[in-house]
Amino acid sequence: MQSFTRVIPKQKCEDWPLKLSKMMELYHEAEYQTVKKDIRKAAIIPLYPENLDKSLEKFNKDGLIFIPTWKIKTGESFSFKIKPLKPGEAFYWSGYLVKTKKDGEILKKANQKHNHKIIGRMLGYPDCCIEYFIKNFPVNYDPIWVNLKGKVFGYPECNGMLRYFGPKIVAHYSCSPACESTRKIGKAWFKIMMEIDKDLAKELYNLLAGPMTWNSYHGVVQVETPYFIGLVNSFPFVEKAKIIDWEGEKAEKKKTGDKPVSRKKKSKKKNNLN
Ligand SMILES: [Zn+2]
Repeated sequence: MQSFTRVIPKQKCEDWPLKLSKMMELYHEAEYQTVKKDIRKAAIIPLYPENLDKSLEKFNKDGLIFIPTWKIKTGESFSFKIKPLKPGEAFYWSGYLVKTKKDGEILKKANQKHNHKIIGRMLGYPDCCIEYFIKNFPVNYDPIWVNLKGKVFGYPECNGMLRYFGPKIVAHYSCSPACESTRKIGKAWFKIMMEIDKDLAKELYNLLAGPMTWNSYHGVVQVETPYFIGLVNSFPFVEKAKIIDWEGEKAEKKKTGDKPVSRKKKSKKKNNLN
């Protein structure tokens, strides 16, 4: 299937597509800063040909090294499923951003061997989420809480349901909506977002904390928030609609210490734009 993302703003929310692209920029800058500020050893970042000179100047100034690793077709977003390019197709680079040559070598080797454990650790991901990824990615390359559906509570830091539209706090797939390790990492990353753009960061946080519905069916994910509906291509082999009703931060307020809640319920169609 052709990759795509579409954002359909709701009435009086026409500014959201622009806001989402600003949130994506904010997230990318925060990712960059996590390496610069030694919060982790490496990040995966895009390098666009139109910004080549400025980007290289920035890396140089900050003492950072970019290791070109994947060629991505122009107009497509980076995901772990990368299609080979056809001859003559326009592309941009995606690769590892590191501080030392040694770390670059470690990542190059790990990448050749598909060693996700080493790659994940270098990228600062928690072990529980690395294990979750290694276990689930081979069967579903868009592993958003593969075993959950129905009402789900959790931390905004763990909410990756809007990842393809821009808003997210961490880079990895959180192993659960209430993964404490992800939350800890997310808090450190979010602090950086707040330093870059306080108002936008707060808005991003509230969006991820607020209600949304994630509906995956036949290779298309539809995410509905109070402000917009997002559509993105996803793992095509989901035979029954899988719906997650994200109820945000309630779990934290209750402080019950319970595991994230998932109550199975009959799937209801939520394809209307209301
Ligand atoms: Zn985890």
